[in-house]
Amino acid sequence: RAVDDSRSQMSPRMKPWIAAIHAYVPGKSRADDGRELLKLSANENPLGTSPLALAARAAAKAPSLYPDPDSAELRAAIGRVHGIDPARVVCGTGSDELLNLAAQAFAGPGDEVLFPRYSFAVYDIAARRCGAQPVEARDADYGADVDALLACVNERTRVVFIANPNNPTGSFLPAAELARLHAGLPGDVLLVIDQAYAEYVDPADDDGGLALAAAHENVLVTRTFSKIYGLAGERIGWGTGTPHLVDALNRIRGPFNVTATGQSTAAAALEDQAFVTASREHNREVRARFVAALEALGNHGLRPLPSQANFVLVLFEGALSAETALRGLAERGFAVRHLPGQGLPQGLRITIGTAEHMDVIADSLARMAEGSA
Ligand code: PMP
Repeated sequence: RAVDDSRSQMSPRMKPWIAAIHAYVPGKSRADDGRELLKLSANENPLGTSPLALAARAAAKAPSLYPDPDSAELRAAIGRVHGIDPARVVCGTGSDELLNLAAQAFAGPGDEVLFPRYSFAVYDIAARRCGAQPVEARDADYGADVDALLACVNERTRVVFIANPNNPTGSFLPAAELARLHAGLPGDVLLVIDQAYAEYVDPADDDGGLALAAAHENVLVTRTFSKIYGLAGERIGWGTGTPHLVDALNRIRGPFNVTATGQSTAAAALEDQAFVTASREHNREVRARFVAALEALGNHGLRPLPSQANFVLVLFEGALSAETALRGLAERGFAVRHLPGQGLPQGLRITIGTAEHMDVIADSLARMAEGSA
């Protein structure tokens, strides 16, 4: 009785590894005073969504029915477009779900999950939520450093995450470096190549991730419909690897993890590769112009990092601080991403929007930098 009475006063206790997690902080779309801002803080597509995908979405099935639990038509469409056997594809509620499932299936308490410093915040959460230890490898001037990653591998390492291109830095590992990373890993370590921004890379610079996933038992590639496909609101991602990896993720994913609307909309979006190409070209042109404008402010300490993605990380190394620039841009109506919690108090990650908006942002930053000189 005494034990029962004392327990009746208690509340459920979070597992210590869950209590150690810092919840993901999403990109904002409002200023601190509640004003709606133009959102360039979550790497969404400024061109919106393919009209073919929008038409499919409008024709979606009745919501009273469960979706196809296996996303079969969507997997078939992914297989066609990418030349992959659909049996080697698994869909997720965004690629976030697949990243978490990969950690959960292959790592647990006592294991280590490795990733570069300055990488996507979900890797740390994915490691911790299954009780594994997150380990950060040293970077090479804000890019992934293959030698530093390999130096961190030990007998406890179970999963390595690498985003290519990387968020939040925009850096890119060429195919030879990615292959060298894979070759240096023991066969029982899972390499997750997160290609959320892969469609933004010039096709001539393909990092070879899909070929690695096709050929090796220990490589999982993840992709998303949230970025170039303009379907962030629908929450659809996919992954590919050998049947063993796909089987592991299928065992633990939600049974109906992609909505019916999401499945049909994404399948239609895949058919509109002209929209993808137009989005990539728009991004390349506007990003080059934006970076050039910021490079001209180098004497004021602004340093845009080279990017292969649909955003640029700008470092503020002079009199104008990232925090002041963040506030100034909010005053002019723009929300961009400040990531002090990820060790980047000196940087702002700015999504590439329309040419007009990027010109206004570059102009605003120039005025602020010149004003604070
Ligand atoms: N990986 C990276 C590197 C990302 O930046 C993001 C989105 N911020 C994701 C994965 C997850 O995207 P989603 O869950 O929308 O597919």
